[in-house]
Amino acid sequence: MEKNLKRATLCIRGGWEPKNGEPVEPPIVQSTTFKYDNSEEMAQLFDLKKEGYFYSRLQNPTNDVVAKKIAQLEGGVGCLLTSSGQAANFFAVFNICEAGSHIVASTEIYGGTYNLFGVTMKKMGIDCTFVNPEASDEEIQQAFRPNTRVMFGETISNPGCHVLDIEKFARIAHRNGVPLIVDNTFATPVNCRPFEWGCDIVTHSTTKYLDGHAATVGGAVVDSGQFDWMAHAEKFPGLCTPDASYHGLTYTKAFGKMGYLTKLVAQLMRDLGSIPSPHNSYLLNLGLESLHLRMAQHCRNAQQIAEFLEQQEQVAWIHYCGLKNDAHYSLGQKYLPNGSCGVIAFGLKGDRDTAIRFMDSLRLINIATHVADSRTCVLHPASHTHRQLTDEQLRASGIDPTLIRLSVGIEDVTDLLADIQQALAKC
Ligand SMILES: *Cc1c(COP(=O)(O)O)cnc(C)c1O
Repeated sequence: MEKNLKRATLCIRGGWEPKNGEPVEPPIVQSTTFKYDNSEEMAQLFDLKKEGYFYSRLQNPTNDVVAKKIAQLEGGVGCLLTSSGQAANFFAVFNICEAGSHIVASTEIYGGTYNLFGVTMKKMGIDCTFVNPEASDEEIQQAFRPNTRVMFGETISNPGCHVLDIEKFARIAHRNGVPLIVDNTFATPVNCRPFEWGCDIVTHSTTKYLDGHAATVGGAVVDSGQFDWMAHAEKFPGLCTPDASYHGLTYTKAFGKMGYLTKLVAQLMRDLGSIPSPHNSYLLNLGLESLHLRMAQHCRNAQQIAEFLEQQEQVAWIHYCGLKNDAHYSLGQKYLPNGSCGVIAFGLKGDRDTAIRFMDSLRLINIATHVADSRTCVLHPASHTHRQLTDEQLRASGIDPTLIRLSVGIEDVTDLLADIQQALAKC
């Protein structure tokens, strides 16, 4: 592949370079297993001494093509696809944590990730301290402990629409000798590449914009290859000391910049098995082919709708970093100069019921447990996705009980504005 191709070109051409007479679309290799002529060759694959396919839980040619495209888009050394965004975030963190480890995470993250870190991983003996991403370096520093292994945030938070100061988080993480993982789901690599700002590992729920058509659930972990694990070897024994389950192989020594991802496949995929089906990866790839066009349209539509909502008497507050009055406008200009995403968070004057009345009055816009998709949809986290969180937890993760998450799609914006207008008239 030519060097330094633009992101729009990579959306279409990345990952797959057909040779003479080969199909232009990556083929769906819907096979669990791969045949070899002699036993020695297969043994070498198991020893990770040779590259090749043997079982689709570990690697599959279709999945690899799509993973490579996402790695190229993010500017990383490699990528692993997972069966969901939840699996991606769990794998990304668990690859460098174990019982007794500690995580520092922004409070401004997706509810599912908040639960994963705060509840489920706690049961595995991994503690998490949530920090207000707007706090000073000194305040955030206080969350770190000797056993902290990773820092975590979201480029644009779901559902609060806050923009992460990635450079600040990277600075604090690195000062403590740990990597920064950023969930880049809402921004997508079209609008932000966190690696350019010091982030070490990027995750995605590909279920959202990368697929974009509400067709497939999936996730991705991308490594920048930049974090120097060996410089902090005592913190990351799983990467920097021999793995007994792989004949004493040391991932960072044997695979260099690919050590982190090799461990992710060889240990976590092997033992926990959360791969996407090749057919889903094929569909994800179709979505990626128009990502650059869709993101531009999502941003144009959302900007117009946010400007409209900001003017409405009934709107109590609104978060969209494209608005000049938004608290995150300048962070948005820095990290997302070409636009952020299609998601807007706002609240109506009144109570929870006002939000419900507004949503029930919409005709074109769907009420859906989905976001970041080509069809415009709304969701009220307090009564839908975040029902399991108490009011206190809701507020701790920056979610106002009146918050309506409006995910602006790529329809004609005049139809969307008309729908919003008629629904507001009924509130
Ligand atoms: C949806 C979402 C996830 C979880 O992804 P799934 O594909 O639904 O498992 C993680 N992070 C963010 C920011 C999300 O929006």
